Amino acid sequence: MYQDLQGQTVIITGAATGLGEAMARRFGQEKANVVINYYSSNQDVQPLIDEIHSHGGQAIGVQGDVSKEADVKKLVQAAHQHFGSLDIMINNAGIENEVPSQDLSLTDWQQVIDVNLTGAFLGCREAVDYMLEHGIKGRIINISSVHETIPWPHFLHYAASKGGIKMMTETLALEFAPKGIRVNSIAPGAINTPINALKFANPKLRASVEELVPLGYIGRPEEIAAAAVWLASSESSYVTGITLFADGGMTKYPSFQGGRG
Ligand code: NAD
Repeated sequence: MYQDLQGQTVIITGAATGLGEAMARRFGQEKANVVINYYSSNQDVQPLIDEIHSHGGQAIGVQGDVSKEADVKKLVQAAHQHFGSLDIMINNAGIENEVPSQDLSLTDWQQVIDVNLTGAFLGCREAVDYMLEHGIKGRIINISSVHETIPWPHFLHYAASKGGIKMMTETLALEFAPKGIRVNSIAPGAINTPINALKFANPKLRASVEELVPLGYIGRPEEIAAAAVWLASSESSYVTGITLFADGGMTKYPSFQGGRG
């Protein structure tokens, strides 16, 4: 538990499912005020809100598309109106689809860049603007991926978006360090969430991914949430501009395991 997170206000984008949901739950356990952004009206976040309340946190749900400027502004306004602050911004919403690069349509390219990179940019900009205006030494956490550093054929748009997140995080960290605003990324490896549901439902495909993980298992969303609360807390007070890889060692060249190479 991180006592200093109690009563702090956090926005988490794309928080109806997967990593966002796990992070919302964990911040609720820390008794934070959680703004749960969800994308579709089919996504019912009320059970998550109730659960956060039961742990002593506060929560509201706000529908919005992170690739739309007005919707991201609305998220920050909701944090201010309901909780009177914005201390932590987590840009988590993200999408991917598999297409060989020679067939990648401009529409597909733009859709992934719009959500993953432009959405995170809008979240960063609106959060920083609010924090500067209110003199808040805030924290921003961008959910990147191991594919900010591992090239990923057939996922060109996704890899490009996460590579962009890396430089955006580092640039903003440098720009706003003098104001005490810390900006970091988390790069998950293979985590068991809806984005991977089809892949992990197939035992062969699941095993082929597990082989890429030196720790030998697919990560749990809670393991990413644990990284997020640490980066948001004062326990990481001297950390800015990093990517925290929570990937079971996936970025450590597992194919060289056992002396190969
Ligand atoms: P997920 O599909 O469960 O979560 C993505 C969420 O984003 C969904 O709730 C979806 O509704 C929401 N979303 C999509 N478009 C949106 C939009 N325009 N506006 C607002 N919300 C939108 O999958 P996840 O694994 O929880 O993914 C969360 C983040 O983690 C993504 O950025 C993803 O790239 C990243 N990531 C996941 C893994 C993994 O293995 N699960 C690995 C690396 C990185």
